[in-house]
Amino acid sequence: IVRYQDVHKSFGDTEVLKGIDLDIKPAEKVAVIGPSGSGKTTIIRMLMTLEEPTSGDIIVDGTNLWHMEKNGSMVPANEKHLRQVRGDIGMVFQHFNLFPHMSILENCMTAPINVQKVEKQNAKKRSIEMLEKVGLGDKLDSYPDQLSGGQKQRVAMARALVMRPKIMLFDEVTSALDPELVGEVLEVIRDIAQEGEMAMVLVTHEMEFARDIADRILFLDDGVIAEQGPPMEVLENSTNERLQSFLHRFR
Ligand code: ATP
Repeated sequence: IVRYQDVHKSFGDTEVLKGIDLDIKPAEKVAVIGPSGSGKTTIIRMLMTLEEPTSGDIIVDGTNLWHMEKNGSMVPANEKHLRQVRGDIGMVFQHFNLFPHMSILENCMTAPINVQKVEKQNAKKRSIEMLEKVGLGDKLDSYPDQLSGGQKQRVAMARALVMRPKIMLFDEVTSALDPELVGEVLEVIRDIAQEGEMAMVLVTHEMEFARDIADRILFLDDGVIAEQGPPMEVLENSTNERLQSFLHRFR
């Protein structure tokens, strides 16, 4: 459902991604691990078209997101295609990015109504179902600042899921949380993963969690995928020294 072909990304003179090739199958769960600054967030931001590649192809569901012009600059695919692709992808960020002036129910209803043109009653029904699923059925009329960090992050997930995406991206969604709130958020992700329908890409520092839910782990190091494979292979049996020393920090 997603294909990266020889994707490079530079910020100024610094090349952050140095040729990424990656295929993600429908319903596949991929965890991305790697040292700070290795380009993990950049990889998924490009999939959301929040960042353009310097060169290479990123293809989602058959649509190439970017085209290189004759002068070498990258321009996005046409608006109609982009809108469709963005509708297929849901993203949850480290910082929850909720709308503070809206109740959590309104937070969830906004995008289906405005982007997908879902009828209001239907959007409301879908949003309530999703908020119940993440355990917040009793908070529909609360505002974000009345919730704990873990609850806010669960709202952010419900808000993304209510769009029924084919691909969900999670960017270090627990790293801004107090330790005692991490579990409840991981539990919700685990439930979503077990339903199995969506492809998921998770940037995470939670190794145990990655091992449990991922079909495949990618170790990103210095702008390349330095190692990848099933969790046991990558986390237990790899001979890659950089990976070993990275993992050592979590033991
Ligand atoms: P972390 O685990 O710390 O979040 P990461 O692996 O997700 O790191 P990225 O956020 O993808 O890394 O960043 C990779 C590199 O690109 C970093 O050195 C960062 O400083 C740089 N970078 C990211 N975004 C920008 C930007 N908009 N402008 C300039 N440099 C950037």
